Amino acid sequence: MGTVSDNYISVLNEVKQLTVKSGRKEDECTLVAVSKTKPVEMLREAYEAGCRDFGENYVQELVDKIPQLPGDIRWHMIGHLQTNKVKYIVGKTFLIHGVDSVKLAREIGKQSEKLGLVSDILLEVNIASEESKFGFKPDEVTDAVNEIAQIPGVRIRGLMTSAPICENPEQNRVFFHNMKQLSIDIKKQKTDNVCMDYLSMGMSGDYVTAVDEGSTFVRVGTAIFGAREYH
Ligand SMILES: *Cc1c(COP(=O)(O)O)cnc(C)c1O
Repeated sequence: MGTVSDNYISVLNEVKQLTVKSGRKEDECTLVAVSKTKPVEMLREAYEAGCRDFGENYVQELVDKIPQLPGDIRWHMIGHLQTNKVKYIVGKTFLIHGVDSVKLAREIGKQSEKLGLVSDILLEVNIASEESKFGFKPDEVTDAVNEIAQIPGVRIRGLMTSAPICENPEQNRVFFHNMKQLSIDIKKQKTDNVCMDYLSMGMSGDYVTAVDEGSTFVRVGTAIFGAREYH
């Protein structure tokens, strides 16, 4: 492993090259540095290297870190969000990636309205229908979009998935391809208040394939900050 700064720059360059290779402009896929469990010094190092998008999984950790770092950071809530914790993060995040129920979307809408704002959200899809994963099943997504689109205070910006753990990123290509297709299908319905411009997919082990299949946000932790120790 190199330094955080070197790692960030090399992943960023790779993401840019892959984005161009996929037929898009180099800035059409954003590298989100996933900093969960990592100390703020490491985030600061990534910031100094140019990173402005950070992803966190735990509400308490996110809320603790925000005031310790510069105000121009875009914070991405990427973890499983419990309804009772929504109030702590609304208004502080750029994007909430893992909305996996209508109930959660309603609470985000309610808390956002209290603050007079609209929160951008992504609907999480369990694209491989794994037992252990959160998210809507692929065949539930359309109904969820239609229902959530009517909730004031939230705006659907696209879809998010965590593909299965893989040895070879090619193994997940089919899932990323299916995610892109799902987002195209939903876009075609032209539902009011639904924008399908974001697709959050790809992690350290498979971002190479995800970018190729049209990801607009790759969420990369280990390849930038090193392995995590869980408490
Ligand atoms: C931890 C996490 C990541 C980053 O995973 P790495 O394999 O360390 O790159 C991405 N997305 C979600 C939802 C995560 O929880």
